Amino acid sequence: MDVKSCRRCRALFHHVVGPQICPQCKKLDEEDFQRVKEYLYDNPGATMATVCEEAEVTVKQVQRYLREGRLTVSEDSPIGIDCESCGVKISTGRYCDKCRASMANQFSSVSKGQQKPEEKPKTDTSNRMRYLDSDKLRRRR
Ligand SMILES: [Zn+2]
Ligand SMILES: [Zn+2]
Repeated sequence: MDVKSCRRCRALFHHVVGPQICPQCKKLDEEDFQRVKEYLYDNPGATMATVCEEAEVTVKQVQRYLREGRLTVSEDSPIGIDCESCGVKISTGRYCDKCRASMANQFSSVSKGQQKPEEKPKTDTSNRMRYLDSDKLRRRR
């Protein structure tokens, strides 16, 4: 278990799994999400600006809900996010169908060639933990 700083309110909390937000913010975030979902359910054609105003959330929050796949909008909805690879407008996830398909192709050809695609993320995690430790020390002083 790690002590981390909440991405939303910066409070320190014990982080186990999932997004780096404290339990209290998680609850608030869930309430925000429900308001957005309900508003879009009643007003499927609402624009991003209207949704943010009516549900009292930020554009970033709505985009995050879409990226996480928690929120879905109808196909003709003016609300959308950009494909992280080619920038085309999509309504959920991170990439458009085209980019997803070409990435899947790349992945399958890589894993056919060599059997250890999992090695890199491990190093990343230990690096992050080391940073966090020095962070904690600095704050305590
Ligand atoms: Zn928080
Ligand atoms: Zn794309």
